[in-house]
Amino acid sequence: MSAKVWLVGAGPGDPELLTLKAVRALSEADVVLIDDLVNDAVLEHCPGARIIPVGKRGGCRSTPQAFIHRLMLRYARHGKCVVRLKGGDPCIFGRGGEEAQWLREHGVEVELVNGITAGLAGATQCDIPLTLRGVARGVTLVTAHTQDGSSLNWQALAQGGTTLVIYMGVAKLSEIREQLLAGGMAADMPVAMIENASLAHQRECRSNLTAMEQDASAFELKSPAILVIGAVAARSALYCGNESAREADLSVDINAGYQRA
Ligand code: SAH
Repeated sequence: MSAKVWLVGAGPGDPELLTLKAVRALSEADVVLIDDLVNDAVLEHCPGARIIPVGKRGGCRSTPQAFIHRLMLRYARHGKCVVRLKGGDPCIFGRGGEEAQWLREHGVEVELVNGITAGLAGATQCDIPLTLRGVARGVTLVTAHTQDGSSLNWQALAQGGTTLVIYMGVAKLSEIREQLLAGGMAADMPVAMIENASLAHQRECRSNLTAMEQDASAFELKSPAILVIGAVAARSALYCGNESAREADLSVDINAGYQRA
């Protein structure tokens, strides 16, 4: 039997947002290496598995990446069914790409399982459509945190006309605001800051580009949180459509049935 590791996304927190494939991988797992943004409630799907926490939140206790690699390799080579469980999606700011490459280079088969990434989940939980006809024709996912200190092209982000979803931004609000303002984004651009998206203790703070740092501080915004920056983050964005079209929609006779053209 060849060695195999499943790199699985656990979604943003709400256990009901787990995919069926993730549930199947968990139910077959002998060993689960789990990140600390994963909600423990999902572990009900792997009652017999050995659970190894390998989380590493910025500034807190951390498990070296090389150690995680070797742990996965060791269990896989012993014929164990290994699940590497990550918050959100394994390949969105989750090192899924790196881990998959390293494992494959060491002869291990890898299967990636999508999870719902926090940025998408957080927006949807707050009724924010990240794309909206006539308002936002795209969405850009970025992280405010880099290990190598490299900088984003803020001007392109400020002027790109897409909704920005920023991960790991809580400690960088001042820089984000300054860079986007300098890049030409409107000072009153709506911002939504969503903490613990999809969990029972989710909180959301609505603001705008100029006020977001002050509002976040008054709100005591804490990590994990995502920022959604763009016109769609205004509560009124959904009602920008054509009123007469909305009236026409509402006049549909619900008893008439649906006729195929
Ligand atoms: N792979 C993960 C992202 C890991 S990076 C995913 O796809 O979601 C960690 C960052 O994700 C956090 O700093 C925060 O910005 C965001 N995040 C993760 N879970 C979150 C949650 N439940 N609510 C809000 N933001 C979250």
